[in-house]
Amino acid sequence: MHNASDRSSWISAAEASRPFYVGLDLGGTNIKAGIVDDGGRTVAYHSEPSHVDRGPEDVARRLGGMVSTLCDLAGVTSSELAGVGLGTPGPQNLQTGVLYNTGNMPGFDGFPIRDRVAEHCGHQVTFANDATAAAYGEYWTGSGRHLSSMVFWTLGTGIGGGVIIGDACLEGHHSHATENGHIIVDTSPEARECPCGQRGHLEAYASATSLVAMAKEQLARGATGLLADRVAAGETLTPVLMADAARQGDSLAMQLILEAARWMGIGTVNLMHIIDPEGVVFGGAMTFDGEGDPIGKAFLERVRQEVREQAFPVLARETTIQYAALGGDAGYIGAAGLSRVAARRKSGSTAAEPRPGGML
Ligand SMILES: [Zn+2]
Repeated sequence: MHNASDRSSWISAAEASRPFYVGLDLGGTNIKAGIVDDGGRTVAYHSEPSHVDRGPEDVARRLGGMVSTLCDLAGVTSSELAGVGLGTPGPQNLQTGVLYNTGNMPGFDGFPIRDRVAEHCGHQVTFANDATAAAYGEYWTGSGRHLSSMVFWTLGTGIGGGVIIGDACLEGHHSHATENGHIIVDTSPEARECPCGQRGHLEAYASATSLVAMAKEQLARGATGLLADRVAAGETLTPVLMADAARQGDSLAMQLILEAARWMGIGTVNLMHIIDPEGVVFGGAMTFDGEGDPIGKAFLERVRQEVREQAFPVLARETTIQYAALGGDAGYIGAAGLSRVAARRKSGSTAAEPRPGGML
């Protein structure tokens, strides 16, 4: 897995292909920022707590300041930068660069973050939804690098996503495209309630939050076993604990994880039938250590099984389904990559290199 906090993974400015791009990934907890070369390779990286409690102006000032911090770290001058990209949690207005009310960042509603960061760093800023930025990062240099089109899922506290076709990201007329976690998968009256307030959304069945909620419900009904014992002994119920219990043979934990995977399979089939991507990539915190791990493998296999059973035959046979490769670094790499796409479009060159799939 990509790990930019390990300095030995950086390449030197001398080895890099110019020009350079900065990617800024603002999360509710941390800011991850990096400078990458024309091939998306990290030349320097910096991370710090977001401190959203200090307010939007403070966050924008620090984000802007990181551009020169990263140039210094990389030994690169500001004039060698061809773009700066910024990814933030949605919802936002991508056209105007303004944030809407984001659940975990109170006080940011209506804040023109794109232009404030641009003022602080002295560069134009390309603005993106954070999940779309992560999707583009995987598409550019990660698991999707051989794909001509890709559906991306982020599985974590919530469920997000992105769709990349050629070098175009699906953004939507109101910047609300690819809210993939909020597709409706259950219309029954007893459908589970999503954190967004509506019922029956995928996120209410397959996110880390819902997985834990469903486990709690089963334990409250008297389920027994290793997971029940560990929770009774004081351990916090998390997807990590559930995966650990499942690895040790706990059937409840395994059954719930596979049930979440089944729901993700249903969501995936829905998107495959709309987008018909060359591949589907799963990233985010809840990917159970990837395919090298028995639970990670079982989760992805269960998704694939659902796709085999429910997707149109050609799609079921040919669409690749795999885990992401960049981990938490996908967001800043993708934000940098999107600024590269914007810079190349502006200069009149083809935004995308030809791909094996031949999209462009
Ligand atoms: Zn929802």
